[in-house]
Amino acid sequence: MRKPNLPMEGGCRCDRLRFKVTSAPLITMACHCIGCQKMTASAYSLSALVPESAFEVTKGKPVIGGLHGDLKHYFCGYCMSWVFTRAPAIEGFINFRATMLDDTSWYVPFIETCVSEKLPWASTPAVHSFEQFPDMEGFPKLIEAYLKRTDQSP
Ligand SMILES: [Zn+2]
Ligand SMILES: [Zn+2]
Repeated sequence: MRKPNLPMEGGCRCDRLRFKVTSAPLITMACHCIGCQKMTASAYSLSALVPESAFEVTKGKPVIGGLHGDLKHYFCGYCMSWVFTRAPAIEGFINFRATMLDDTSWYVPFIETCVSEKLPWASTPAVHSFEQFPDMEGFPKLIEAYLKRTDQSP
């Protein structure tokens, strides 16, 4: 797996909301949950996890969307693209939508979650599959495995 060139930049469908990421992801994920299916209007969502300190909105003002609950899903207020998420379970981190990046050529999901809810034909190249969301206690090991994998690539 390749590492992205830094900084990474991305934007929503209309480009009114732009962001910059200054560190390589800790892990990349595909989520097959029904919520992600609905919010992406597709089979699964694709995201990358980075420390909050490495993520900056550089243009526009994100608005809250989705269920407006504990999970804070941030959207462009004009084109309504889902751009990034903050969650209590991952405090201090941002899970941004990988498909918003200007350059997605390096991106491959390392884990996939909620495969119990996936569309029967949907598949990803993820190395680790989880029926639900993996326990938070399991994440340090997964992050370590992902970083090792990206380090080894040419
Ligand atoms: Zn937009
Ligand atoms: Zn999901």
